Amino acid sequence: MKSSSIKRVCVYCGSSPGSQEAYTAAARELGKLLAENHIELVYGGASIGVMGAVANAVMENGGRVTGIIPHGLFQREVAHEGISSLLVVDSMHERKAIMAGMADALVTLPGGFGTLEELFEMVTWNQIGIHDKPIFLLNTMGFYNPLLKFIEHTVTQGFVRRGQESLMRTAENPTELIHLIKTATAGQETYQELRP
Ligand code: AMP
Repeated sequence: MKSSSIKRVCVYCGSSPGSQEAYTAAARELGKLLAENHIELVYGGASIGVMGAVANAVMENGGRVTGIIPHGLFQREVAHEGISSLLVVDSMHERKAIMAGMADALVTLPGGFGTLEELFEMVTWNQIGIHDKPIFLLNTMGFYNPLLKFIEHTVTQGFVRRGQESLMRTAENPTELIHLIKTATAGQETYQELRP
C-alpha cells in the first residue's frame, strides 16, 4: 500500500489549563503550526483548558477543527461552538471511536485522567493491531518525564515488551512535534471488526 502523509491529527489533552501558563502556550503554538501546515485537528470539542487553547489557535490561524462531544458533557465541558464542525454523540465510547477513526495520527498533550485513558487506549489498540496510527507525546516542560520513567519500569519488570515503549514518540516542543508529524506516515484502522 502507498504511504501517505498525515493530514489530520487527533489531539488528546486536559480539559483544565494546568497550573502553568506554558501548557496552554505550547498548545496554542501547536495549533498555529497545525493550521500553517494544513493539518486538520480532531479533538474532544471543549472550549476550556488545554483543549480550548489548541482548538482556538487552529481556528485563529485559518485551520480546520472538528470537535466530538457526548450530550452528557455538552454543558460541563462547555462545547466549543466556534469551530469548523461540532459533532454531538451519545456516549464516550462513540466519541473516542470517531475521534480516533477520523485521524491519521494521535497526539497527546499534558492532561489528566481523561487524557491518560485516551492515550493508553490508543497505545493498546496499536499494540494489538486495531490500528497502526503513529502516537506522539508533547512533553511540555518535561510533563511526561515521570510517566516515561514509569513505562521504562514496566519494561524492566517484564510487563511491556522491550521496543513497545517506542510506540509513543516524544517531542519536547511544538516545532519538534510538527517535524515528527510531517516526517511520519499516516496510519490506518487495520482490524475494524475489533472495534466496539
Ligand atoms: P482530562 O485530561 O481529565 O481533563 O480529560 C480530557 C478529556 O478526556 C475530556 O474531554 C474528558 O471528557 C475526557 N475524559 C474524561 N474521562 C474519560 C474517560 N474515562 N475516558 C475517556 N475520556 C475521558
